[in-house]
Amino acid sequence: MQFDAIILGAGPAGLSIAHELQRVGAKVKVLESTDRAGGSIRTIRDGEWIIETGANTLQTEGDADLEILKGYGLKNAKQFARTASAKRFILSRGKLHTLTAHPASLLKSNLLSFTEKLRLASELFRSRENFPNESIQAFMTRRFGKAAANLLMDPVVSGIYAGDPKELNMESCFPAIHSLEKSHRSVLLGLMQRPKVDRRIVGFKNGMQQLADAMAKPLIVGGVLEKNTRVTEIKKEGDTWTVSWVDQTQSQHTASAPRIIITLPHWHWARLPLPKSIKQSLQPWEQSQVPSVTVVARGYKRSDVPHPLDGFGYLVPNNENREVLGCLFPSSVFSERTPKDHVLLCCFIGGSRHPDLAAQSDEQIRASVNRELSETLGIKHAPVKEWIQRWPQAIPQYDEKQSAREKLLEQVEGEHAGLHFLGAFRHGVSLMSVIRRGHTLAQWLSR
Ligand SMILES: Cc1cc2nc3c(=O)[nH]c(=O)nc-3n(C[C@H](O)[C@H](O)[C@H](O)COP(=O)(O)OP(=O)(O)OC[C@H]3O[C@@H](n4cnc5c(N)ncnc54)[C@H](O)[C@@H]3O)c2cc1C
Repeated sequence: MQFDAIILGAGPAGLSIAHELQRVGAKVKVLESTDRAGGSIRTIRDGEWIIETGANTLQTEGDADLEILKGYGLKNAKQFARTASAKRFILSRGKLHTLTAHPASLLKSNLLSFTEKLRLASELFRSRENFPNESIQAFMTRRFGKAAANLLMDPVVSGIYAGDPKELNMESCFPAIHSLEKSHRSVLLGLMQRPKVDRRIVGFKNGMQQLADAMAKPLIVGGVLEKNTRVTEIKKEGDTWTVSWVDQTQSQHTASAPRIIITLPHWHWARLPLPKSIKQSLQPWEQSQVPSVTVVARGYKRSDVPHPLDGFGYLVPNNENREVLGCLFPSSVFSERTPKDHVLLCCFIGGSRHPDLAAQSDEQIRASVNRELSETLGIKHAPVKEWIQRWPQAIPQYDEKQSAREKLLEQVEGEHAGLHFLGAFRHGVSLMSVIRRGHTLAQWLSR
């Protein structure tokens, strides 16, 4: 069968490309190895409980992102985070400190001492410097001081990447913030002067899986999206890519197209039957770290949780020496996630900080979460429900070699016309960024 494009992987990246290509009339084939579409989106529905054990929310930046989501036909299902959940907490010296997007909240909080706040504010007057390939920790310490790096940035890095700011690269992980030193001399000055963008935290009434299902819906018609497949051969002859695969009944299929788009995570590439020369070129990607994360979601009776849960959740800086990376309060962010008079909490364990902890037994993990929730939120009662999801490889780590690896992919794409790579392994791990880039690539391909 002849197609305009063959897409490998039906996570958010593959789905957004396929959805947009199909919308403009292209003939596409999507091959997914598992029995579901959505990749790292994974919603559990358990009676009245709606639990995210993968991506919890997405963050849109401006109307263009909202337009993309509108294209998936979820107008009545889209939810914006409640205003009250704009509050975030950071654990420091055993206590939760409140922060909001407003800088005044930092000045008012006891998270940093007076001297540490002065050091942070002095960034406004610091001169521009140039340290190539700087880690997040080094960049933040140089610009804002050690306390800001340890207490503000470290937990954010943990919340987004489950990563270690000493290992991750500033320019690769936060290119927009990194570039402000170059463009404005001071990052704070740049933040104050850059155009305001309307950022919204978005979820869906039936959970994030509703988004994945809506993206996949037009692809199910006519068997565009095939699940439970195993790709057995990928070859290029002239301008044509030919992909062979077996389905779950072990029947063999073949499809050809001038474009092949690889959206499966890089830790699966070694097993992909790509032509030998491409496989060799991709070898440096095998060293790219992807730590494990275990997600523990728990339902409690409201009356058993002393804390008001009046925010999005809390993050834990490394120097607190806790076993849990952070805890979200999903029932405070969106309505109708739990039965009446109940609340939902979602804890994260592992990451680069504690890779061994994510692999512990359920019992050990349960004990860690009990300790954490008792010490920080004062919860002494057992949950009424619990769901544990293990991600043996969770989020790609953009370390000092990320930029070289990304250049390598550009080179491979340049050498093999019609071959494209798109996903969280490159140019940003957030869900909206992956979807936006997928949408843009599809528009570019269909020009
Ligand atoms: C626990 C967790 C929490 C997260 N929370 C958030 C959040 O709250 N907000 C946010 O913005 N981001 C979050 N993220 C990040 C975000 O979900 C991911 O970056 C995003 O889903 C990546 O999309 P993707 O399509 O690139 O890859 P994936 O979602 O990994 O999808 C890849 C797909 O490829 C398939 N595949 C693998 N091998 C093959 C093969 N050989 N052939 C065919 N298909 C194959 C997989 O089965 C999968 O369906 C979270 C991630 C995790 C793991």
